Amino acid sequence: MTKLLGVIGDPIAHSMSPLIHNGWLRDLGYNANYEAMHVPAGEFDLALQTLETRDILGVNVTLPHKADALRAATTKHPAAAAIGAANTLSFQSDGNWTADNTDAPGFLRAIGEIDPSTDKVIILGAGGSARALVYALSKAGFSPIILNRTIAKAQALAGDLGGTKSLGASLDQYKDYLDSATIVINTTSMGHEGAVLELPEGRDRLFFDISYGHISAAQLAHAAARGWRNRDGLTMLVAQAAYSFEIWFNEFPSIDAGLRRCRAAMKAIT
Ligand code: NDP
Repeated sequence: MTKLLGVIGDPIAHSMSPLIHNGWLRDLGYNANYEAMHVPAGEFDLALQTLETRDILGVNVTLPHKADALRAATTKHPAAAAIGAANTLSFQSDGNWTADNTDAPGFLRAIGEIDPSTDKVIILGAGGSARALVYALSKAGFSPIILNRTIAKAQALAGDLGGTKSLGASLDQYKDYLDSATIVINTTSMGHEGAVLELPEGRDRLFFDISYGHISAAQLAHAAARGWRNRDGLTMLVAQAAYSFEIWFNEFPSIDAGLRRCRAAMKAIT
């Protein structure tokens, strides 16, 4: 019997998760299929109930349902509970769901070697993805500074999940903070509106934008022109998918193979 997997969200048509997961399922010979599932806000519980009547193995969950996914699960892994959001649900044989958050390990895998004794990290944004990053970074010994348009959210996130020296401040003040940073991570969705944050000289420091494709292109081009090393969010996307796949199949798939497929698909549509 072919098992079912998928990603639930709205919008979802643009998602690269089916491409990533179906590639791995074929590579590794699993009899399962991964589908994009369009579920509007307010219909998450109904969608889960429908899936329970099919041969569902698990689902990824994206905007706007990550908090609902955590709430719906009977067993919540500590990272998902602390972050307040789940991006991976697994259906158990007793009919219950287990919730995980793989954005946090996916981000750490994507950023590579970082050192809390020498690196100073600034996070731009305090939305859902920033919560996973701040959780991962403070667990790794960092005290990231969080800058957000809505200052209260930056301060709340620093207090909830930050390290001992974390603080939250207004994004308007970013120029006051950027000079002391060695790593700047953009988690804002301002790239969706075509906005670009003007950066000081990079001096070979790292600018990591967790968005990818046309959403991060202009910001990363600007960062490169100012002398920053830069990275987009595609590796994080594939790495979080790989950790979800490992939860469902107990086997870690090839991040390189996933990345190759995503880059080829993006090239084909530009
Ligand atoms: P949220 O909606 O939860 O948060 C959006 C953040 O962006 C908030 O901090 C918001 O500030 C800020 N923001 C939005 N518009 C502007 C603007 N015009 N100027 C300044 N700040 C702005 O989104 P997510 O955190 O879930 O996602 C953010 C981005 O990260 C998206 O582009 C998403 O695609 C990407 N992403 C990538 C992942 C990957 O695996 N590579 C995983 C998850 C997300 P405020 O609080 O003031 O509203």
